[in-house]
Amino acid sequence: MATLGNPKNTIEVLQKYNFNFQKKFGQNFLIDTHVLDKIMKESGITKEDMVLEIGPGIGTMTQYLAEAAREVVAIEIDKNLIPILEDTLSEYDNVTVINEDVLKVDIRKLSEERNQGKPIKVVANLPYYITTPIVMSLLESRIPIDSITIMVQKEVAERMQEEPGSKEYGALSLAVQYYAKPEIVANVPPNCFMPRPKVGSSVIRLTLYEKPQVEVSDEKLMFSLIRASFNQRRKTLVNGIGNASNLNISKEQVMKALERMGLPPTIRGEMLSLEQFAELSNLL
Ligand code: SAM
Repeated sequence: MATLGNPKNTIEVLQKYNFNFQKKFGQNFLIDTHVLDKIMKESGITKEDMVLEIGPGIGTMTQYLAEAAREVVAIEIDKNLIPILEDTLSEYDNVTVINEDVLKVDIRKLSEERNQGKPIKVVANLPYYITTPIVMSLLESRIPIDSITIMVQKEVAERMQEEPGSKEYGALSLAVQYYAKPEIVANVPPNCFMPRPKVGSSVIRLTLYEKPQVEVSDEKLMFSLIRASFNQRRKTLVNGIGNASNLNISKEQVMKALERMGLPPTIRGEMLSLEQFAELSNLL
């Protein structure tokens, strides 16, 4: 089987199987070998690694992963792609394809069974409609993971990497940065995919910390505070948290905590760093 990462070979496979793209599954297949080489280089995969690929499509990147890694587990939701993957990956005996929704798979169990619970690497050209749930479930699960190297919508990559004070900084930036160091490693234009997405894309690598970046006594409370602070962007932090019905924290309590932190009562959530949200949460 020829490598798939170019338009000609991809079209050939699609025609052979009479495959129809399903919009609801966010199917945009990579057709650019330079982008594939770049993702492979940045993911730092070695022959020791077990790699989890989310959404292999017709197996374009899976072929590269199978060459570089010890073992690949690829989870694909679309059953119409399974016979295609059997064909395009037939040369590899180190790839397992699972026909399932990635959000329903027990990835911890997979890593325990196939990698003795040692850290795995995740690589994917993600379906954009569920980027955040996939990334957050991987991070929050505390499954041993070294790094997550993923293609996502450009704006989402930027949001993950943003610092306090910028327009795109928000709950996703804080959640990602609590668990991992984000680095955008490539920008990828729509013409590198088939069909072309309407938005620009970026490859971002999240290198997971062994321990979260800040010490916080109640993680759940901190993330509830973060969500409340960014729910109403134009509101001050005091109003955002004070008005959140799920929190039961008064505006006076928030003001007192801010005062102890040396911050003005009019400050907005987007000005606070992760360390400051942790401190606020610990005070409250
Ligand atoms: N990796 C391929 C490539 O780069 O050419 C395909 C990437 S495409 C952007 C996303 C893939 O994820 C599609 O194959 C789609 O069917 C699959 N997918 C969508 N939702 C999924 C889910 N919930 N679980 C697993 N796979 C999913």
